[in-house]
Amino acid sequence: MRLIYDLNFSEIASLMVEWGEPVYRAHQIWNGLYRQYWNSPERFTNIPTSLRNLLAENLEFKALALATTLNSADGQTVKSLFKLQDGKFIEAVLMRYEKRNTLCISSQAGCAMGCVFCATGQMGFKRNLSSGEIVAQVMYYSLLLREEDNVVTNVVLMGMGEPFNNYDNTLGAIDRLNDPKGYNFGARRFTISTVGLIPAIRRFTAEKRQINLAISLHAAEDALRTSMLPVNKRYPIDDLLTACRDYIAITGRRITFEWALINEVNDTPEQAIMLAKKLKGMLCHVNTIPLNPSPGYSGQATTRERAEKFKQILDGYGIPCTIRLRRGIDIMAGCGQLVVKNGG
Ligand code: SF4
Repeated sequence: MRLIYDLNFSEIASLMVEWGEPVYRAHQIWNGLYRQYWNSPERFTNIPTSLRNLLAENLEFKALALATTLNSADGQTVKSLFKLQDGKFIEAVLMRYEKRNTLCISSQAGCAMGCVFCATGQMGFKRNLSSGEIVAQVMYYSLLLREEDNVVTNVVLMGMGEPFNNYDNTLGAIDRLNDPKGYNFGARRFTISTVGLIPAIRRFTAEKRQINLAISLHAAEDALRTSMLPVNKRYPIDDLLTACRDYIAITGRRITFEWALINEVNDTPEQAIMLAKKLKGMLCHVNTIPLNPSPGYSGQATTRERAEKFKQILDGYGIPCTIRLRRGIDIMAGCGQLVVKNGG
């Protein structure tokens, strides 16, 4: 059965017409789903029972079944494992900060990109998520936070999968959540993180969206980057940075470059200098994070001193750089740690 979260407003309105219902019922359903967060047909007590029955018979409301939830020792990070309707599994992570609740969600079950340091990459690709399965992760946490009188403030597409490898469904989900008549989540509060699929970056550029763009760069020379991110063979660094420069020129928006600092691999002064020279003059920001461990990769996290040194070099070239805190490592909820055991 089709997921109700897979439908946009006009598709729900068409269904009402097909079922001989007035179109205002579509508004009631949209409001129930995305303002009240009702997640089953019985919750829609403002529509007739006959329509509730039609919804129940024709559409699936349960996109995700919660399999497990893990809370980090500090209580700030929650990782949930969800079972999809076809038995595949995905993970999503909520990170609570002082004034923000950032949600890291998945766009695919598994991932085909094979980044060597990433647990999701190590498990391989299972399938794309539908737009409704992406939306449902946000709705799940929205309901959870509402119970605490709280809200999701940011959504990052940095969970399982390469969002630009599932472009239409990812952007479809964002559009649905962005609808002012529904969930009304501002485009600027979303961040899409990509390994650098150039054709998709060019498409995203042409669409001039307000969504934030982050590029997983991790190395400043092709040989090293290809050894870490196989996709670099197809889309080498200089071509990728040209696409990024064009994105900035056309949209006027800043790009974030992600850099997982791996001890004595990409945290060296040489890499920092090479990176600074490549990014000189770009409207960008470098986000470094000491590597999170994953079972299939032997690289180690950088030390605090080496991270500081790396940042200092970038600062010296006028490239803004932050060292991010690692979150949820004790529950394997950090960047690059999401993996579903036993085949997912
Ligand atoms: S880092 Fe992202 S793109 Fe690379 S394998 Fe992991 S999930 Fe896929």
